[in-house]
Amino acid sequence: MRVGGAVEWLLEPANPDEFREAIVRAREYGFEPRILGGGANVVIDDRGLPGVVIATERLARVFRPSASGDGPESDGSEFDTNLPSGQMVQPDPSWDPRLVCWAGAPLPGLCRKARDLGYSGLEKMAGVPGQLGGGIAMNAGGKNSDGTLWQMSDVVDAIRVVDPDGQFRDIQRADWAPEYRDGKLGDAIVSGAVLRFTPMPKLVVQEATRDYLRRKNAVQPVTEWSAGCVFKNPDPELSGGKTAGQLVDEAGGKGRAVGDAVISERHGNFLVNRGAATATEVFQLIDEIRSLVQDRTGLTLECEVKLWKRPDPAE
Ligand SMILES: Cc1cc2nc3c(=O)[nH]c(=O)nc-3n(C[C@H](O)[C@H](O)[C@H](O)COP(=O)(O)OP(=O)(O)OC[C@H]3O[C@@H](n4cnc5c(N)ncnc54)[C@H](O)[C@@H]3O)c2cc1C
Repeated sequence: MRVGGAVEWLLEPANPDEFREAIVRAREYGFEPRILGGGANVVIDDRGLPGVVIATERLARVFRPSASGDGPESDGSEFDTNLPSGQMVQPDPSWDPRLVCWAGAPLPGLCRKARDLGYSGLEKMAGVPGQLGGGIAMNAGGKNSDGTLWQMSDVVDAIRVVDPDGQFRDIQRADWAPEYRDGKLGDAIVSGAVLRFTPMPKLVVQEATRDYLRRKNAVQPVTEWSAGCVFKNPDPELSGGKTAGQLVDEAGGKGRAVGDAVISERHGNFLVNRGAATATEVFQLIDEIRSLVQDRTGLTLECEVKLWKRPDPAE
């Protein structure tokens, strides 16, 4: 969104052990750390934030799985990007179609790697910015043309988290119950994950990725500064099947602005910064749009974007 202020402490661990230690140390000093992935879904207060933010940007590595175990461990054989380049490469059936990723692995890079391997599963995530940990925490995703949902959880085999007690723990997919745009991880922090794919001819994966990107680019202002969709889609039973974007549009929200923060004319659920917006303007516009929709429909839209507001000293 390109708005907001500085944080008091920014920690940038370089591997999962440092990540865990940063979390534990922050707590020892009395701070509950916030975790920043790619920042594609957060808006940070203009006045900045007290306390500790731990960024996962340096935890970007992706591995082939180790021969022995299922956890986000590896034998150190970091992913080889020099893959066979023939367009019709068929995945070798002996390949284990999984990738082991640290939390800061960029989602667009992961999509490219999967595509280059002929691994199907992340095609629709190609236009979603951010990192693996943020994608799992948010259970990022979208809607298929038949109305069903695709989401990050579709490709997750196991997650390694740092528990509230500061220990690593592995959660297998069967024991994980994510919801729409909510990884439901409570206070657990994602340190890495194993993703499982379906091997397919590379061309098929490539074409599916292109097709989805084309469709996304046609309806969303993807090149403008935004945080993606601002609001979660409400329960279709309450909204008559209408999405948050449609409700904003029908309430006259499109084009509405506070300073340089404006609701996109292209998509009613995208709030964009047209140049010099502040977080204060973004927060105000979100409140105004929510009231607009509430007055018209009685529905209260829930924010999908995370608003990192500076706590009031009185609180
Ligand atoms: C142009 C654009 C298009 C987008 N399209 C989509 C879309 O189609 N579908 C969709 O779902 N989203 C979309 N988004 C939103 C965003 O890309 C996703 O929510 C993405 O998963 C956020 O990842 P991130 O790493 O940037 O998370 P951040 O924005 O950094 O963080 C988001 C939340 O996750 C938490 N978090 C981050 N990392 C961790 C971790 N390791 N452990 C625990 N919690 C963590 C943060 O504390 C925060 O609460 C879009 C955004 C933009 C700007």
